[in-house]
Amino acid sequence: MKLRRSNLSKLRGQPFDVLIVGGGINGAVSAAALAGKGAGVALIDRGDFAGLTSMNSSNLAWGGIKYMETGDFALVRKLCVSRNLLMQSYPSTVQEIRFFTTLAKGFRYGPRFLALGAWIYWLIGNCFTRTPRLLAPARIRDEEPIVETRDAAGGFEYSDAYLHDNDARFVFNFVRTALDHGCVAANYVESQGARREDGWWSLRARDLIDGGPEFTIRARVLVNAAGPHVDAHNALTGERTQHRHTLSKGIHLIVRRLVAERRVLAFFADDGRLFFVIPMGNRTCIGTTDTPVSDPAAGITDEDIAFVLDNINKRLKLEKPLTREDIISTRCGVRPLAVRSEPGRGRDFLHLSRKHAVEMRRETAHISIFGGKLTDCINVGEEISTLVRSLGIALPCPTYKWFGEPPDSVRAEFFHQATLLDLDGYTAPESSEPLSTRLWRRYGAEALGLLENIREDPRQADVLIKGTEYLRCEVAQAARREMITKLEDFLRRRSKIALVERREDIRHSPGLTEACDLLFGAEAAAKLAEYFATPA
Ligand SMILES: Cc1cc2nc3c(=O)[nH]c(=O)nc-3n(C[C@H](O)[C@H](O)[C@H](O)COP(=O)(O)OP(=O)(O)OC[C@H]3O[C@@H](n4cnc5c(N)ncnc54)[C@H](O)[C@@H]3O)c2cc1C
Repeated sequence: MKLRRSNLSKLRGQPFDVLIVGGGINGAVSAAALAGKGAGVALIDRGDFAGLTSMNSSNLAWGGIKYMETGDFALVRKLCVSRNLLMQSYPSTVQEIRFFTTLAKGFRYGPRFLALGAWIYWLIGNCFTRTPRLLAPARIRDEEPIVETRDAAGGFEYSDAYLHDNDARFVFNFVRTALDHGCVAANYVESQGARREDGWWSLRARDLIDGGPEFTIRARVLVNAAGPHVDAHNALTGERTQHRHTLSKGIHLIVRRLVAERRVLAFFADDGRLFFVIPMGNRTCIGTTDTPVSDPAAGITDEDIAFVLDNINKRLKLEKPLTREDIISTRCGVRPLAVRSEPGRGRDFLHLSRKHAVEMRRETAHISIFGGKLTDCINVGEEISTLVRSLGIALPCPTYKWFGEPPDSVRAEFFHQATLLDLDGYTAPESSEPLSTRLWRRYGAEALGLLENIREDPRQADVLIKGTEYLRCEVAQAARREMITKLEDFLRRRSKIALVERREDIRHSPGLTEACDLLFGAEAAAKLAEYFATPA
């Protein structure tokens, strides 16, 4: 709360080179790239960072194998290269995972044809991952007995990557990088629109937490990264663009862990779309759907849930079919898909290109980011930096590498110190991996500070909220460095506690009150009440 309040006073007081509206993945990487290269950057979001689409993805960094069907090879190539760069840059976070794909008899393509496609996909991706293989029904039965093979023609296996710690955490780490390089960021600050005058943008902002009068933020360049609200924000500022968004809703359900192996099970759902069973910590995430919607705030419906449950129950051999009672939590997001403004370009909705598009208007120094994927985020950061520079904003360190995990020497020092503390091989009962691995992945170089906390007070290594992996020292650090304004910011986005634990279990967790005290001090009781008063 202290960090947010001090940033709010800076937003009111100083002019910026660039002001970014929207702290989803597109805004977060733009802020991290520009701040790292030395621009004066402000970032605001009317909700929490990654609080909209970017917390509801499938958590995959993938080369877009499905776009091969529509012949979008250039997009597949681009996404594969982006995926490879992410895997290289974040080896602890963005990791290769196998997609174990089963095809039903009578499907529009046979297993051999699709396995051949997977080989081409692998070649397009520079042979960066393990090789694909063809799967006969008997092999599927042997290797993954949970898959229903009565109606299976066979299958194939190939690799892509997934985000180990969840999309929202991944996005926040870019916001944190931006803050570390001097960006002034604040969540729960809404843009009411902006006006251009004498070479400056003046944006009217409202603090949605403490209230108070509207205030102005001034900047030379305005970047609209408002995700599904890009068009609405352009309407507020009077910007006309060649692109606009069309929206598609996708949901996921989180249930108990169904698959022992760390792999994604892939199927084609009844509507012909790829459908996944994805590991999420000690749970499984199932989805997704692709439904045209007009409202960026579209929510999950009974029909969506029934579609996902029905599809999964048909494709897995479970002792008892999954029902609504098995759902631990849900995710629902609206994909902003970039389309050219002229209507009737003739492509089927499901086959709309998922490429991002960036439009800049030089006369007004305004940039809009349309569409995109988490997978392509490094390119977006670089692209926005190049455009901002072309508008005459000085980037004193234009070649600075603003992304990636800390160097090997820092990593080696962290694991050395963790070994001295006997943490290196320690795996908590709640976890499937050593504590040190998890801390490094989540916090990078900041994890050294956590080891110091544990050295000073071993109680800091205790799990605070039972049933989760979160240690007392992590919560204290989150309070200092992660701009946690509401309890949901911590439970749903900085951590994935609210995804993998039922709300009632969280409510009764003995450590929750202490966590709130650490996060909010005197406001703890009010923040706790606010969280449980809001429907899940
Ligand atoms: C179901 C689903 C599955 C997906 N799976 C994948 C996947 O596996 N891999 C992948 O790479 N991509 C995936 N995607 C795509 C990806 O999640 C999105 O493209 C991406 O998150 C969009 O990010 P964004 O920053 O543009 O938008 P958002 O994350 O929506 O961010 C926009 C932000 O702008 C803020 N904002 C809006 N208006 C204002 C205002 N007036 N003032 C201040 N702030 C404002 C919002 O609060 C929001 O936080 C998936 C998407 C969905 C929905």
